[in-house]
Amino acid sequence: MTRLLFWLALVFLVAAAVRSKLRKMSGPPPGGAAPAPNPPPRAAEQPIERMLQCAHCGVHFPASENVPANGRDYCSPAHAPH
Ligand SMILES: [Zn+2]
Repeated sequence: MTRLLFWLALVFLVAAAVRSKLRKMSGPPPGGAAPAPNPPPRAAEQPIERMLQCAHCGVHFPASENVPANGRDYCSPAHAPH
């Protein structure tokens, strides 16, 4: 059983190596602009916002939703001390 797993892992590694080599050899298509490998879908639309951590529940939330109280940051008025 262990030997079978070994051969499976070996085949997987060889397949991965061949696949990466094929990708490197094919390169960008001739005569055409190379497509972006993995364009971030919404990176251009949404500016990166600073994330804060709620001092009450520990959840991370965007700084625009911050509810500051006593010098600490809270995710909502319900978690801020009254
Ligand atoms: Zn909270």
